[in-house]
Parts: sequence; C-alpha cells; structure tokens
Amino acid sequence: MAIPIPSRQLFIDGEWKLPVKGKRLPIINPATEETIGDIPAATSEDVELAVDAARRALAWKKGKDWATAPGAVRAKYLRAIAAKIKENKSVLATLESLDSGKPMDEAAWDMDDVASCFEYYADLAEGLDAKQKAPVSLPMETFKSYVLKEPIGVVGLITPWNYPLLMATWKVAPALAAGCTAILKPSELASVTCLELAEVCREVGLPPGVLNILTGLGPEAGAPLASHPFVDKVAFTGSNPTGSRVMAAAAKTVKPVTMELGGKSPILVFEDVDIDKAAEWVAFGCFWTNGQICSATSRLLLHENIAAEFLDKLVKWTKNIKVSDPFEEGCRLGPIVSAGQYEKILKFISTAKSEGANILCGGNRPQHLKKGFFVEPTIIADVSTSMQIWREEVFGPVLCVKTFTTEDEAIELANDSDYGLAAAVISKDLERCERVTKAFNAGIVWINCSQPCFCQAPWGGNKRSGFGRELGEWGLENYLSVKQVTQYISDEPWGWYASPSKL
Ligand code: NAD
Repeated sequence: MAIPIPSRQLFIDGEWKLPVKGKRLPIINPATEETIGDIPAATSEDVELAVDAARRALAWKKGKDWATAPGAVRAKYLRAIAAKIKENKSVLATLESLDSGKPMDEAAWDMDDVASCFEYYADLAEGLDAKQKAPVSLPMETFKSYVLKEPIGVVGLITPWNYPLLMATWKVAPALAAGCTAILKPSELASVTCLELAEVCREVGLPPGVLNILTGLGPEAGAPLASHPFVDKVAFTGSNPTGSRVMAAAAKTVKPVTMELGGKSPILVFEDVDIDKAAEWVAFGCFWTNGQICSATSRLLLHENIAAEFLDKLVKWTKNIKVSDPFEEGCRLGPIVSAGQYEKILKFISTAKSEGANILCGGNRPQHLKKGFFVEPTIIADVSTSMQIWREEVFGPVLCVKTFTTEDEAIELANDSDYGLAAAVISKDLERCERVTKAFNAGIVWINCSQPCFCQAPWGGNKRSGFGRELGEWGLENYLSVKQVTQYISDEPWGWYASPSKL
C-alpha cells in the first residue's frame, strides 16, 4: 500500500526543529528494500535543547507546570492523545507496516493497544492525587508521617524497533501521567510513528517541552541522553549489550534506570494437552511479530510421549502461516525489520545446521518472495543445550525443540538460561501448571497460552532480561519518587538537651 511518509523534523519544545547538524537517515521499507523517506538524526546538541525544554516544562511556575498540575489535567491530555490515535488508526498502522514490516493486522492491533495504554494511564493520573499524603503509622504519638509521591523529573526514554509506537507508549504514557517531562529516543530502524506521535501532541496542544522526540542513532542521540547530568532517570528497552552501555552511562550521575532487555523464553508442553490447540499456541508464541519479540517462547520443551505427533502437527501449522507483503490479505508474517537483522537470523540458522541440528521446516528465505528481508518460519530439532540456537536470543521466527521425560527435568531445562523474561506451560492439569509457574525463574508466566499482554498487568524480567516492571501500577511507580514527610505534633519541647532557660 502506498501512502506518503510525512517528512518530519525533531520535536523539541512543542515545535518541529531541524537537527543542529542537519543530518538525516534513510527509511527503508523492509518488504521492498526501497528507500521511502528519511528521518532527522539528532546529535548531542539537539539533546541539550530537548533536555533544556523538558526542564523548563517541569520547573515550578505556579499553575502552569506539568509536574504539579492536578492529575486530572494531565489525564485530559493523555485522553486527547488516545482519541487522536484512534481517529488516525488506519494511517498510523499503515505507516508502522511500511516502516517495520509488521503485517497490517498486527499494526492495527498495536494502534488499539497504544490508545488503550494512554487511556489506562489517564485513569491512573486522575487517581494519583487521591493517593497523596498516605499516612505511615509510627510507634511515637508525638510524630505523624505521610508519603508524597512526586514525579522523578526529566526522563530519557530509549526504545527499540519491534513495536515502535507501542514500546514508546509503554514509557511515555506512565511518565507523563506521573508528571515527568520526557525525551523519547526511538530506534533509528523504525521511528516514523513516533514522529507522528509528536504531531498528535502538537494537535492536542500538549504544553511545550513536556514530550520531546529525538530520532537518530544510538551512539549519537541515545548515549548523550543516557549520560546527561540533567536527566533524572533513564528507561531503556533494547538489547543486552546496549542496556549495559546505557547503565554505565547513567551510573556516572547515579541515575536510576529500568531495563527491559532480551529473552530466550521456554514453553513447556505436557503429554495431556489437546495437540492441535497447543500447537497453535506454540506457533503463535514464537512466530507472532515474526519472532522479533523479547518474550517470544522460542525454546519448546515437549513431553517425549507426544513429541512425534506434536511436531508433525506443529510443522503443518507452521507451513500454513502466510508469509507475504504486510499489506496482502491474510498476511501473518512480514519481512524482518532490516537487512542486518535478516542476515543475523540466517547466520543463526546456518550455525545451528553446522552444529548438527535438524531443520524440520523453513530455514531459508521463502522462494516466492524475491525482494525484501523475508525469512520462513523455522523449526529446529535435535538441539543440545550448549548450542548457540538454544542459548542466544535470535529475535526472528526460529523455534528450537527439545524433549523431556519428567516435570523436574522440564523445569530444570526451562530455567537453564541467562535470561528470565517469560515462560509458558501448557497442560490440562492446572495443579501442575501452578507448580511449574512457581518454579519458573521468569517475570511473566503464561498458562495454556503464550504472548497475550495487557497494559494493566506488570511486564519485565529476571536475570539478564532486566529489572523494574513496566505497565500497570508498577509502570507508573517507575516515574514517581517517594518523599517521606514527618511532622512533630507534640506541644512539649523535644527535651534532649538541657534547656538554657533552666540554667
Ligand atoms: P538495541 O539495543 O540495538 O537498540 C535499542 C535502542 O537503544 C535504540 O533506540 C538504539 O538507537 C539505542 N541505542 C543504541 N546504542 C546506544 C547507546 N550507546 N546509548 C544509548 N542508546 C543506544 O535494540 P533493538 O535491536 O532496537 O531491539 C531489540 C532488542 O530489544 C532485543 O534484544 C529484545 O529482546 C529487546 N526488547 C526487550 C523488550 C522487553 O520488554 N524486555 C521489549 C522489546 C524489545
């Protein structure tokens, strides 16, 4: 589908601003490999301007600043943003598909989630005022104490390309709801819809400087944001190597950080399942969003008694997935986001082959697609736990399989990973599901499904998958600091020192 990509600039202090160094980066349509536009590339000079604008928007100006405005005022803007997203859903979804390669149906789903997330945090912003001055019970009657929850300040939000607008929204909506002002740095591989969010903010009259959006390269635009002395917190979603760099940069000024990093999540299938139903969830758990999803359940652990029949069905489900241009009717798998990611995935598959793994289906680019970064959904068996394909995040449509005999063995294999983002269990025995849930070392567990995600429930991982939780009330807490207020309420003098009046 051809619609023009709007030509935008950086969004700073409520206005479009040319990048100081005038640099731009191409937008490549991953389905056609054609350049379809460009985005501005911010550098440290633009970061300075954006941080300055965000600080001014935060600063105390009675009745006019963002941080101390009643939650209901901030909620009004968040609801207006949600309404505009809904109004422009079809254009935004089309732009997301063109930019990232997402099937149009998925992109449309994302836009619904984006609007819901802004609405949800509008509700929480409204509720925030009533939660102020929560009393703390003290063991001394001469004192009373309460807690104020205040915005952390100016926050730097650095996001990846796999859900470009949705991942940005998971940070922007709670940050603004909490009263923070923000600088968003989306991924250079898919920034188009984040720049459209800027246009939405302009249209709804969001006060200048409350949200600034800087597109550009990580080292040039993200790094100066992460290390900036006047940025009070950094929330990051992306890969582990970049996450470590961002943590190191933030450490220089002892900034709090939240980290949403990679995963290599297991899905356990026991022998009592309905094989067809379970096979569809296993396919969805790994091939949804082309496997370019941190929580993809990309390690299948299968009870040996059903392995042959299950894999036969799973291969049939997988071969039936329509891989095509994202705008074709019924498309369920579009292209990989970029040439670099495409090459990386094919390299993972060829290494697995050379290490002796067995490709049950897929493993190549689909023969009917001559252009674009397409990879067939791929299932790999005969995998050992030391193989790269079992241990490392592929971030593509590649599932690998091992069998197990006992529940204990399955749990041990599931937890034997550097990551701990998500895990799934499929069984009709709900007591077993509960046991396995408790045994998983993961921040998210799915029972009899994989991947559903709701903005009301917490999201985040253990181990090297990061720390902190996004979404739900936990997502709002990320952007609030707790101020303890303690008041002396006795009429009596404190009486610790001898009073000079008695001398
Ligand atoms: P990435 O680490 O390459 O980039 C993420 C962001 O960091 C981009 O905006 C990039 O420009 C920026 N960046 C790069 N170098 C930087 C630097 N030196 N300083 C500051 N910022 C810098 O990740 P990606 O390829 O965009 O995303 C894929 C990764 O994201 C996967 O590992 C995936 O698991 C992870 N992810 C995690 C979650 C989660 O919730 N845990 C969600 C989505 C994606």
